[in-house]
Amino acid sequence: MTHTIGPGSTIGILGAGQLGRMLALVARRMGYGVAVFGGDRRSPCGQVADAVWAGNYDDTQQLTEFASACDVVTYEFENIPAHAAATIADLTPLHPNADLLAVAQNRLKEKTALRDCGLPTAEFRMVHTADELALARSDFGGDVILKANTDGYDGKGQWSISAATNLEELWTSSGLTEGLVEQRVPFEFELSVVAGRYASGECVYFEPFLNHHADHILDVTISGSNLVSPVAEQATQMARGVLERFHVVGVLCIELFLTSDGQLVVNEIAPRPHNSGHLTIEAYNCSQFELQLRTICGLEPVPLIRTAPAAAMANLLGQHLPATWDAAAMSGLTDTQLHLYGKSGAKTGRKMGHVTTLANTSADAEDRVRSVRSQLTAVR
Ligand code: AMP
Repeated sequence: MTHTIGPGSTIGILGAGQLGRMLALVARRMGYGVAVFGGDRRSPCGQVADAVWAGNYDDTQQLTEFASACDVVTYEFENIPAHAAATIADLTPLHPNADLLAVAQNRLKEKTALRDCGLPTAEFRMVHTADELALARSDFGGDVILKANTDGYDGKGQWSISAATNLEELWTSSGLTEGLVEQRVPFEFELSVVAGRYASGECVYFEPFLNHHADHILDVTISGSNLVSPVAEQATQMARGVLERFHVVGVLCIELFLTSDGQLVVNEIAPRPHNSGHLTIEAYNCSQFELQLRTICGLEPVPLIRTAPAAAMANLLGQHLPATWDAAAMSGLTDTQLHLYGKSGAKTGRKMGHVTTLANTSADAEDRVRSVRSQLTAVR
């Protein structure tokens, strides 16, 4: 029988960003305490947590104190050192487990694991010199992407390469000593599946989301019936394959490319809620953050039901924010929710918040969310 961690218990979150904040807000609503590790009181999650360890991941004493104060620990980003995850897991349940964490923070391990699960990925290869990079480019057809093997996110540590790129210059300026080269997938659409698995083995899935990126950063996500129906079942089964292979307890996201001939190719795994799942807060009976809480605490599984015909989410990056908040920009808009993460310092490319709209069709939802964001930006 699964042990239930009930209301009144403390959820530990490694990482103090917006994903931790949105989990913390759900946890508080459901009567849990929240402890966060890795950010101070001004951090997005620290602002809404009960207890904060600003500490660093090399401080075993602090990790031990933190784990001892929690009934269960999860994380909101994947770059947590293995030794820190092990210290915590020795004291307190850590979900998803450290095996998945280790795979998700290393692109080579991740791509290899996906292949081992029988899932299609882009052709890939590790390179250590500009010459090896040149060979990979020519073997993979000219259009490739060089990625840092670890620590990359939101397009950081990523270089697009074409037949015309000077590879000596690019390799030197990248500062890499090794990198993973991937064939560029000529995709029609990008999709993601956010899914959860309970300790009982029961898996649940949100319907796949359609994602638009700008400058390698997620820009707009759309959810609606029949949006990706011909491949929805296949995409969902791919998520199930990863959940089961790693005996995941918790939430993960797989990011996919859909090619023009209808093939799905897995790009990467995020072992946590995902930016593309933010619209589940308004568009589903149970958000991805509530699902995270339910799975890691062993609560009763709930079916995931979309409660609006369609929804769309647009990220608010630093460059999208108005200079001053003008309530007029949001007034008169129904079915639109604004989320701000409490960050100071609105830099270009930095995720500051998002807006979600609900509508009767996915086209309307997308139009509306883009127009709301433009109105905000116009207040500058
Ligand atoms: P990643 O950090 O791997 O999630 O990449 C960020 C974004 O870069 C993806 O969402 C795609 O838009 C683009 N991208 C990354 N890898 C590839 C690839 N192999 N082929 C085409 N586009 C890619």
